[in-house]
Amino acid sequence: MEWSWQRIPSEFLVTDVKLCRQGKLGKRKGFLHIRKGRIEGLGVGAPTAEGIPALDGDGLVCAPGLVDLHVHFREPGHEEKETVATGSRAAAAGGYTSVVTMPNTDPAIDNTGMIRYLIDRGKEAGRCRIHPTGAISPGREGQGMTEFGDMVSAGAVGFTDDGSPVASGGLMSNALKYADVLGVPIITHAEDRSIVGKGCMHAGYWSARLGMAGMARAGEDTAVFRDVELARAAGAHLHVAHVSTKGVVEIIRRAKNEGLRITAEATPHHFSLDHSRCRGYSPLFKMNPPLREPDDVNAVAEGLADGTLDCIATDHAPHTVTEKEHQFDQAPFGVTGLETALGVGITYLVNTGVMDLGRLVQCMSETPARIFNLPGGRLEEGAEADFVLFDPTRKWKVVADGFQSRSDNSAYLGETLIGRVAATFRGGRLTWRAES
Ligand SMILES: [Zn+2]
Repeated sequence: MEWSWQRIPSEFLVTDVKLCRQGKLGKRKGFLHIRKGRIEGLGVGAPTAEGIPALDGDGLVCAPGLVDLHVHFREPGHEEKETVATGSRAAAAGGYTSVVTMPNTDPAIDNTGMIRYLIDRGKEAGRCRIHPTGAISPGREGQGMTEFGDMVSAGAVGFTDDGSPVASGGLMSNALKYADVLGVPIITHAEDRSIVGKGCMHAGYWSARLGMAGMARAGEDTAVFRDVELARAAGAHLHVAHVSTKGVVEIIRRAKNEGLRITAEATPHHFSLDHSRCRGYSPLFKMNPPLREPDDVNAVAEGLADGTLDCIATDHAPHTVTEKEHQFDQAPFGVTGLETALGVGITYLVNTGVMDLGRLVQCMSETPARIFNLPGGRLEEGAEADFVLFDPTRKWKVVADGFQSRSDNSAYLGETLIGRVAATFRGGRLTWRAES
């Protein structure tokens, strides 16, 4: 895409693009008309409006800005890994216009002051809409509940002790009931630590072969089962984070068939990589939940394709190089994801025939925005002009110095991905533009 503008005008057109929305990629090229931060019009063919500056989007797809329901921006407490500003930049570079932050910072996001602080930091950074979640329990310590009502008034979009499970079923049950009254979801990091113990990778062939403590699927399956039953009893909305096992996909499929208000997300690494990647002891493949078996990877991908799993969320978890240079069992859990998610989706789901591009975009934008009731995720007249332009055929190599994130602990380093973001706009303002 070529353009010579130094500044993006308040009214402009993007022409010759294929619009991707509502689960479908347009067959014919079309246009998008932006005016004062909103979508003034869109359609197939050439725009009828005259005299408006235009970007030629030939070869690009135009989709609603991506929405990520699960990121860790590390501020406050671990700004050496990521800040709201650097994380927002990484998000924009990945095509994202809205992200939901997890509360496991230091200190935890467990009061209204912290919620407001994050929203303000996001506005200062300006590149991406920041929607914080609040902790369920003060300090994420699993004892008692935080002030849900006050935090929702301050802008919290849900509650979770993510990073840690809620061990007490009683606390989880109360949290579901309170959140339901406030109209926000509880996000479960489903893990029974009495089963998972000190495991650092999936319990199976490779953990045995490598001599590593394993994390059994049952640790995740039983925890999701408990929370689904608690959500059933409360009639509340439960959102299951980072689904990694075939068992959980099945539990959610059944729950949805029964009409329960369960939604779920899966990460790019869980639908693309399996536990054999750990064979070289590289901590870049250490995450929680862990990379599992090919059967699980396929079940997660199929679950996304058939709608059992609603959306793709990155669980973007930056760590410094020194931490990730620890031995496998000593290294922290987590990998970055914002800047590779779209490429991983196209490479591993679309180009393999698991789903079409329309469905992928829906999983990364429209659906996550809808299930968390967020603005964005809509490419339609009158909506805020949050959109991404990307080339679905562009090949690029993932390299450590190519990231906008402060950290480069990506599981895809050295891999060639297909599909790359050309530019991202939030509210009609350019937040990212690729160099070439
Ligand atoms: Zn988690």
